[in-house]
Amino acid sequence: MKRISEERLFLFLTVFALLVISVFAVFRALKSEWVMFFIDASFAVVVILIWIYQYRTGDIKLPKIALSLLASVIASASVYFNGIASIYWIYPSIAAICYLLKARQALFSSLILSIAVMPKLYIDAELLEFASISSTLIMCSFFGYFFSNSIEKQHQLLEQLATKDSLTGVGNRRAMDEVLARTINQQARAASKVSLILLDLDHFKKINDDFGHIAGDQILVRFTQLIEKRIRQTDCFFRFGGEEFVIVPLPMDLESAITFCEKLRELTEESQLVETRKLTISLGVAEYVAGETAEAWIHRADQALYQAKKTGRNRVVAAPAE
Ligand code: GH3
Ligand code: MG
Ligand code: MG
Repeated sequence: MKRISEERLFLFLTVFALLVISVFAVFRALKSEWVMFFIDASFAVVVILIWIYQYRTGDIKLPKIALSLLASVIASASVYFNGIASIYWIYPSIAAICYLLKARQALFSSLILSIAVMPKLYIDAELLEFASISSTLIMCSFFGYFFSNSIEKQHQLLEQLATKDSLTGVGNRRAMDEVLARTINQQARAASKVSLILLDLDHFKKINDDFGHIAGDQILVRFTQLIEKRIRQTDCFFRFGGEEFVIVPLPMDLESAITFCEKLRELTEESQLVETRKLTISLGVAEYVAGETAEAWIHRADQALYQAKKTGRNRVVAAPAE
């Protein structure tokens, strides 16, 4: 199984944690400190269990939470058991928490961790030392938060750029390919029918020629808004290219999908998106046939769309199952 880099990094972190804990466990055994040895050994077992769970399920969320919880418990327990010298473990734990959790959760958890060790610090350390350790812990928590918050924002922006069409804001080809692959995958287990619509604005070149490219752009944007309002949240809307769009997955058999296409066709015709003339669309619709590829499915819808154009435009044509 191919693992995404996030999972690999997580596995590296668990192996690293395991190594550190094991080294300590060996030291405890050599010094015959059996209570501490068993504590370290049980932490090592928990890390191994988290690792196995992640490896087998591929789920990364729960293991991340478990590992950050474990890091917090080990670090604060070691401060309480071994005294102030173990305070150095809190700093990398905060760094690990900021990597493992979402920015807000990380801030909350690292502040709790910092506050949890303060009573012990207050007893053991001198006042000045207590003040500087406490303030550096809180500073680390906030710096970690600012850092992961900005990474989260950049991540969202990248996702937006990678999956949305820049003009209309609907999904792009890349996002459509993913949805198609997922739909086909689910369809292997589902008994229900699913259809795909390919639609194309009629004589759009003429609109550009008569009103200009910028006006053409605005019409495309308004058109996508019109269609988005009419489809369900679960029906995804994609720009296939130029003035061609795809709606998939449409959880309907061919007959219902044709009726739905008619509604979209009428809606566009009556929309008055272009003031002085009628804007119309042609639609090709295809129900998924078990076993066919995404390309074959789209190709059938495209053939139907071609027929709709050839037979006069502003109409719906259904693709026969081949
Ligand atoms: P048909 O009814 O056969 O689909 O005719 P058409 O003119 O719509 O089709 P054709 O494929 O000949 O031309 C598509 C036009 O769509 C030409 C192109 O300038 C325009 N177009 C494609 N993408 C954009 C875009 O992003 N903005 C604008 N304004 N126009 C676009
Ligand atoms: Mg067109
Ligand atoms: Mg076209």
